[in-house]
Amino acid sequence: MEKPEEVITKFGAQPLTEELRAKVGHRFMYDIFFAHRDFDKALKEGFVIVSGRGPSRRMHIGHLALFSFVRFLQEKFNVRVFIPFSDDEKLLTRRGLSYEEVLKMDYENLLDILAIGFDLEKTEIMIDLINLKQEVYNLAVRAARLLTTSTVKAAYGFTDETNIGAMFYPAMQIAHILWPTVATGKRALVVIGADQDVFVKLARDVAEKLDLKKPAALLGSFLPGLTGEKMSSSKPETAIYTTDSYEEVKRKIWNAFTGGRETAALQRQFGGNPEVCVVEKWLRVLFGIDVRRRCRSGKILCGECKKLLLEKMWKMLEEHQKKREKVKPIAEKIIKRVPRS
Ligand code: SF4
Repeated sequence: MEKPEEVITKFGAQPLTEELRAKVGHRFMYDIFFAHRDFDKALKEGFVIVSGRGPSRRMHIGHLALFSFVRFLQEKFNVRVFIPFSDDEKLLTRRGLSYEEVLKMDYENLLDILAIGFDLEKTEIMIDLINLKQEVYNLAVRAARLLTTSTVKAAYGFTDETNIGAMFYPAMQIAHILWPTVATGKRALVVIGADQDVFVKLARDVAEKLDLKKPAALLGSFLPGLTGEKMSSSKPETAIYTTDSYEEVKRKIWNAFTGGRETAALQRQFGGNPEVCVVEKWLRVLFGIDVRRRCRSGKILCGECKKLLLEKMWKMLEEHQKKREKVKPIAEKIIKRVPRS
């Protein structure tokens, strides 16, 4: 995997300009995304969006923020959105995960995505193990012919012990990215973490060989986890999950990593350090609340910031959880068979 900054310094992505940021007009263009590939061309020519999901047991707030941003782009630019679920990859690469568990994960993640409120007339959700299109599989086979084992091993870190299904998956991922262009004739815009840029580059190489428009990309670095390490679906204290209860949200935010001083008196006197503070970043990026100046001057204390974050977070989550309930009939129609645990 590439380090985020290396996408520009070593791998030829472009830094986002003020003009491109302003054209989108969303704070994520300043606080999350910092680089792109052909985003200027996509804006000029018209585009469709691809934003994939590798399903997990529970989606967290970082996933939700990303898909909410995609929904914002859909509305702002009136574009079609394609959301491929790589549940096949999960089954192939996660040892111990059963087929039924993966289907259950599809269903749970689908509820979250539908609850965001995509315009379903302009949204295509493709779940590989459930409703994969013949054309997408055919495109994957065409892509697979162009990928050597050594290329795939280098890009994905596969070894000789990797199962043969996983070795084919890169071709599926490329088909997920290129299919929207085949279907619409428009350039696909991939909204993705900069550490995943290697997969975009591979898809761009294959697109060129298949005489398709190369996919564009918006590349970003996502929120740090509450504990200061990376947010992870498998480390509960690092993230707020979309189905967390009020008590869980409260406990996690109260234990979050901050840049506060040892005592309130010291903090009032010398101020805190917002540069290293996760609570500050979450408040600013997720809710547009900037407390940095007040923090540095000691005018606000960590308890107040955490209380504010809890209030905002719970208001958003409570609403999301209600919407999750409402979209169940749509999810069941897409999945047809709801796996029971
Ligand atoms: Fe972070 Fe707020 Fe504490 Fe400053 S006062 S370190 S911004 S939690």
